[in-house]
Amino acid sequence: MVSRSAAVRPARAPGSPRETAGKRLAILGATGSIGRSCAQVIGAAPGRFAVASVAGGRDGAALARIAVELCAEFAAIADPAGFRDLKAALAGSGIEAAAGPEAIREAALREADLVVSAIVGAAGLEPTFAAVAAGRTVALANKETLVCAGAAVMQAAERSGALLLPMDSEHNALFQAIGARDPATIEMMTITASGGPFREWGAARIASATREEALAHPNWVMGPKVTIDSAGLMNKGLELIEAHFLFGLPPERLDVVVHPQSIVHGLIAFADGSLIAGLASPDMRTPIAHCLAYPDRIVSGVRPPDLAALGRLTFERADLGRFPALAIAIDALKAGGGAPTALNAANEIAVAAFLDSRIGFGDIARVVARAISTMDSAGELAPPQDVAQALAIHHMAVERATRLLA
Ligand code: MG
Repeated sequence: MVSRSAAVRPARAPGSPRETAGKRLAILGATGSIGRSCAQVIGAAPGRFAVASVAGGRDGAALARIAVELCAEFAAIADPAGFRDLKAALAGSGIEAAAGPEAIREAALREADLVVSAIVGAAGLEPTFAAVAAGRTVALANKETLVCAGAAVMQAAERSGALLLPMDSEHNALFQAIGARDPATIEMMTITASGGPFREWGAARIASATREEALAHPNWVMGPKVTIDSAGLMNKGLELIEAHFLFGLPPERLDVVVHPQSIVHGLIAFADGSLIAGLASPDMRTPIAHCLAYPDRIVSGVRPPDLAALGRLTFERADLGRFPALAIAIDALKAGGGAPTALNAANEIAVAAFLDSRIGFGDIARVVARAISTMDSAGELAPPQDVAQALAIHHMAVERATRLLA
């Protein structure tokens, strides 16, 4: 899978015309947390990268700032309402601007050596799929793309020869730990969870946690959606599903362990008892730099962990009783078919409702579980054969979850 395609993908011959201009990047989700960290890594490596395009959601002024900072050639904004601000802020800069879903697609398909997929949620699926189908190398920070339509995306990558580089920290660590080994030889693949802000809380206190408490992640600085997902360990469930599609491992060979220090990100066990771990400081610039420079290595601005200074690394089992969202996600992974797609969609709706203070923290998992079971009973969770079918299940789950909230 990823490692095999990586091994056969030749590096561009030195001295080819674009070598001097730097590696060309398309950055989808440029205004988000990952996009801004990308800009830092790019800024710290002058001459190494050229930015073909940037794409953002709705903040035209923020997108214009990052387009100018990165000397991008083209800036695309998803929400046409943000176009005026984008256009005004880019006046005289020579940077092209456009708005709407077609513009985002164009940003994904501009001539580039690497497409960074960092749009949050299922909104990232279509442009990411377009880049994969076109055979681009895609650095994947948007886990929802694989959770929503993993089989279709991986099949498209197989057909087009696209190389997928995992930018999610756990999957990036696993990708590095696998090296050239065949994923089929792996006995158990484990991703770590920090445990989030509620690691030591009781079930009742977690269920009634406030927005501010859920947004206070101890180790990682991330966008609001993934921070809420992390607090309830839904994020870990989505990441197990992501790992399942990315590395082709069955559910019973995927595991989660809680590791509060967030230094070990992924572990791979082999039949002979060997356990290979991927370690890094909890800073997204490391996996970002790894993907941007791949297969080279560049300075990310992050130092490797100082183990003696850290003193101890601890591990504990994940408590599925206190974190029902993880249990629901594992069930969806095992059920397969349309269940992961429905899980992801219902979760997006429930998390948005929680962030709007319309439901409590404990309601997130309840809404997601109800949406999935309702769809299951109605026979609406058949395996999606392509992206259109995945999106149909996605929209149905959005509707179910929205109705449950009303
Ligand atoms: Mg992660």
